[in-house]
Amino acid sequence: MSKTTNRQARPQRNSRRRALVLVLVQLALLAHIAHWLLTGSSIAPLEPSEAISFARSKVVTPGLIVLCVAVLSTLFVGRFFCGWACHLLAVQDGCAWLLRRLKIRTRPLRSRVLRLVPILAFVWMFLVPLYARINSGSSHTLTTEWVTSAFWKTFPGPVVSIITFLVAGCYVIYLLGNKAYCNYACPYGAILGASDSFSVGRIVVDDSKCNSCMVCTQVCSSNVIVHQEIKEFGAVVDSNCMKTLDCVANCPTQALSFQLSKPAIMRRAGPPPVSTLHPLTWSEELVLALGFCFGFFATHDLFGAVPFLLALGFGLVSAHGALQFKRKKVSWAQSKINFVAVVFASSFFLHAALVQSQALMRDYHFNQTFDLRMGYLRGEVSLPLKSESMGPFLDAAFFASTTEWISYAGQERNAYVHGWTHLMSGDSEGFEREMYEVLDRRPDFGEVMFQLGIHYWVSGKEPQAIEILQKIDPSDPKYLTAQEYIEKINSHALEHQH
Ligand code: SF4
Ligand code: SF4
Repeated sequence: MSKTTNRQARPQRNSRRRALVLVLVQLALLAHIAHWLLTGSSIAPLEPSEAISFARSKVVTPGLIVLCVAVLSTLFVGRFFCGWACHLLAVQDGCAWLLRRLKIRTRPLRSRVLRLVPILAFVWMFLVPLYARINSGSSHTLTTEWVTSAFWKTFPGPVVSIITFLVAGCYVIYLLGNKAYCNYACPYGAILGASDSFSVGRIVVDDSKCNSCMVCTQVCSSNVIVHQEIKEFGAVVDSNCMKTLDCVANCPTQALSFQLSKPAIMRRAGPPPVSTLHPLTWSEELVLALGFCFGFFATHDLFGAVPFLLALGFGLVSAHGALQFKRKKVSWAQSKINFVAVVFASSFFLHAALVQSQALMRDYHFNQTFDLRMGYLRGEVSLPLKSESMGPFLDAAFFASTTEWISYAGQERNAYVHGWTHLMSGDSEGFEREMYEVLDRRPDFGEVMFQLGIHYWVSGKEPQAIEILQKIDPSDPKYLTAQEYIEKINSHALEHQH
């Protein structure tokens, strides 16, 4: 066994410099938001997630440019962008620092299956919409959006944003070790990690100076097994290395340095080496995977409010809980705080799963009433609506409504379905009330405006019909018929006058 140090090494020499850079980046982001708040418009968000606009609608944004610059720079020098510029990484590092100050030690989880999550998340977030756009043969033309007044339109509100930072940036770190969100959830981490494998910027070792003390591994906040990798490959090849340079700064013999060198892909064949530290069995990996899927699907879009990135964080929390159960570490006798936390989290996830499954069931049966609803809008059937599909839908809607006191708060989809439930039983006013509730939250919801307008028309309320149909964006190809309806209603009114 190599000579090891028992002291808990601290990456002091380099961490202050990196912390300063991260703080400056965060201040620049805050200044950007402040500029928008003060002037009403600003450069569109410099956030990689904005690249979705290009995938979906061929819109080039500053966020897409940031993502491209990050990928290109990583292809050349490695993941400096992650280690020195990411705001979520800053939160994770801040949390890890706080835990160290509180003398709370976290042991990193070294999972093989969870490393697939960022790849799948990247595919789902960017490649699926890109494929759907290309495959649909849509005629989107290339446009740009450099400046915006709707700066916050693609971001969650303040409460959800804070919860995202607390779960993804703090709680996940407490449970799974530092940079757990980067390694096991971040969709940008997938593309940047892949790019890192081709990068010529590497942490390399001078074998003659290394005494195998393992300080480099101890100071690495990305959980890279540095001493093992440099021994095997002469360099750090793990794509989770975020080029923090803590290992370089803290190696007691100055054996490590950052240099231009052979890319990782040429140093090793196949997937990244599996660490010999704290390995998980395949049954534990399976439990992690199932726990992640449960937590993710139970919470994604929960209450119409949980965004994709937060659901990934919840998935990791759930995966950790499942592993705890598997290892029989959840017991009142072992740790009362841990037991209460696990019971609380389990209740949350089970309730979320119940709410989501009820809503899924209700939406399935709601879709079965499509022909009936369209028949009403075409004036073919009158109220109250009657068909065989109504019974299962009303039953499912009833079950879904049993958790309504919490699950449906603020969700447009539920108000929309409720509206139709009212209309099916002949309550026109209830339908109109719920539809306006939806429009209060999403004033540009074309489908709701269209259906409300047609409902007014078939109910003989022509002025209201014209008023609402005129609000639909006339350039939206999905609702070109709205203009036809307006002309039809106007000519009908003229005929009536004559
Ligand atoms: S590279 Fe430096 S810190 Fe790492 S094992 Fe060798 S001597 Fe120790
Ligand atoms: S291997 Fe070194 S440079 Fe890479 S993340 Fe770990 S400490 Fe930082």
